[in-house]
Amino acid sequence: MDNTHKAKLMDGTALAARVLDNARARVERIHADTGVIPTLATVLVGDDPASATYVRMKRKRCEDAGMKSLLLDLPHGTSTEELVGEINRLAVDETVHGILIQHPVPAPIDKRAAFEAIPPEKDVDGVTSSTIGRVILGMPAFASCTPKGIMQLLDEYNVELDGSHAVVIGRSPILGRPMASMLINRHATVTLCHSRTRSLPSLVRNADVLIAAVGKPRFVKGGWIKVGATVIDAGYNPGNIGDVDFEGAIEPCSLITPVPGGVGPMTIATLIAQTAEAAAQQLGVD
Ligand code: NAP
Repeated sequence: MDNTHKAKLMDGTALAARVLDNARARVERIHADTGVIPTLATVLVGDDPASATYVRMKRKRCEDAGMKSLLLDLPHGTSTEELVGEINRLAVDETVHGILIQHPVPAPIDKRAAFEAIPPEKDVDGVTSSTIGRVILGMPAFASCTPKGIMQLLDEYNVELDGSHAVVIGRSPILGRPMASMLINRHATVTLCHSRTRSLPSLVRNADVLIAAVGKPRFVKGGWIKVGATVIDAGYNPGNIGDVDFEGAIEPCSLITPVPGGVGPMTIATLIAQTAEAAAQQLGVD
C-alpha cells in the first residue's frame, strides 16, 4: 500500500490503545479510592468456537486494564430459565459491575429474555431495550459498543456529520439500528438499508458517510463509493475479511477503516471503558 493510501486509513488500533490507557488509569483510581476492582462478568453459552475466541479476547483486555473478569461458561442445552436465573444472580452481585452475554446464544434460548434480565446500570454491552431506547433518545446510556466505537473513530478523524448523508447497511439491534440513531442525534441525514432495500448501490453512491454492517465478505463494491466518502467497515467475516471491497474502495474514498485494525479494536476498548464507568457509577466515585 503506498503512502497516499496509508493516509486514508482510520487507525482503530491506535485509538483503542488510548481508550484502554484511559480505562486502565480509571480502574487504578477506582481501586485506590474504594479498594474495589471493577469486574466484568462474561456469560458464554454453548460451544461455538468463534464466541469462545471473542470471550477470550475480551477477558484478556479486561485483565490488561487491571479489571477482574469473571467467566460463566454454560453448557449447550442450557434453558432460557436457567440462563435468566444466572443473570438474575449476577444482577444482584455487588462485586459484579458489568454483565455481557456473548452472542449468538444457541437457538432455542430466548435471547431477548436473557438480555432483559441485565439491569441497565450493568448493561455495559448496550443490549437491553431500556438502553436501546435511551440511545435512540440521545440520553446517557452504555450504548452498544460497536456503534459507539465507530462514533469515536468518526470524531477522532473529524468527519463532518452535521448535515451529511449517512448510509447504514444493516439494521441489527446491536449495530445498524443504534448506529443510525447515533448518527441522527448528531444531525446526519440517515438512510438505513437492509436485505429488502431496493437499488442499494445507487443509495450508497449518495453516501458521504457509509457504515457497512452486513456480515457478507466484500459485499460493498468500490464502484458504489462516492468520491471523498468516509467508509466504515464493521464487517468481520471469517479470514479477517470486511464487508467492503477494500481494494476497490480505497481509491474513491477519503477515509476508510481497515479490517482488521479498524472497528474491531474499538468495540472491545469501548466495552472496557464502559465497564470502568459502570463500576465508578455504582461505587459513587469519579
Ligand atoms: P446481523 O444481525 O446478521 O445483521 C446483518 C444485517 O445486514 C441485517 O439487518 C440484514 O438485513 C442486512 N443484510 C443482509 N444481507 C443484505 C443485503 N443483501 N443487502 C442489504 N442488507 C443486507 O449482523 P450484525 O450482528 O449486525 O453484524 C454485521 C457485521 O458486523 C458482521 O460481519 C459482524 O461480524 C460484524 N460485527 C463486527 C463487530 C466488531 O467488533 N468488529 C461487532 C459486531 C458485529 P435484514 O435485517 O433484512 O435481515
